[in-house]
Amino acid sequence: MTGTHLSPSGSGTRLLIVGPQGSGKGTQGVLVADTFGVPAISTGDIFRAAVKSGSDLGEQVSEIIQAGNLVPDELTSAVVAERLAQADASEGFLLDGYPRNLGQVADLDAFLSGRGEAIDAVIELQVPRDESIDRLTRRAFEQGRTDDTEEVIANRLAIYERETAPILEVYRERGAVDEINGVGSLEEITDRIIAALEARGLARVPVA
Ligand code: ADP
Repeated sequence: MTGTHLSPSGSGTRLLIVGPQGSGKGTQGVLVADTFGVPAISTGDIFRAAVKSGSDLGEQVSEIIQAGNLVPDELTSAVVAERLAQADASEGFLLDGYPRNLGQVADLDAFLSGRGEAIDAVIELQVPRDESIDRLTRRAFEQGRTDDTEEVIANRLAIYERETAPILEVYRERGAVDEINGVGSLEEITDRIIAALEARGLARVPVA
């Protein structure tokens, strides 16, 4: 056993969910994480909570998030490493919103290989551009997220296409990517994801 990317890793389930803004990855991430008994960790949620609490981290990232730009890799990867070091992530996790560029992929690889772990699967949620823009506009109206203005959304989508989409090629070469059609009902999409992960031999937690 000399593979550099052990997959599936010894125990636990380590997942990434990747998709453009408005693909529904936050919602699906939580449902899928629950199904596989791992915590859903969203860097966007961590940063927004930090901004809200007025912590040092919040002060450092608030303007960046407001503009829809990426928080520097060094800071983002440090935040993720700290979160993954917590006890509830020792047997697996689902990361939503990280890694978001090739530098962060390298950081995550280094962190995981240091623990003898690897990513088991990358869920790629595929949604046509028009559909994701529609959903974002609706979310802006319903949730009032201040980075959901038209201009900032356009910036976030451009960054996704330029910096985040290429990470999928890296994971695709490792055979880790499950392409999931993200159009349909919430339940349909969750079922598609679960079926793809089970086909990899990943085990869901039994329902009580
Ligand atoms: P969305 O995917 O809709 O843009 P997120 O909640 O994932 O929303 O992220 C919100 C913001 O938080 C991003 O626009 C960015 O400023 C910051 N952010 C989140 N994750 C990362 C990351 N991995 N690297 C850099 N910045 C990030």
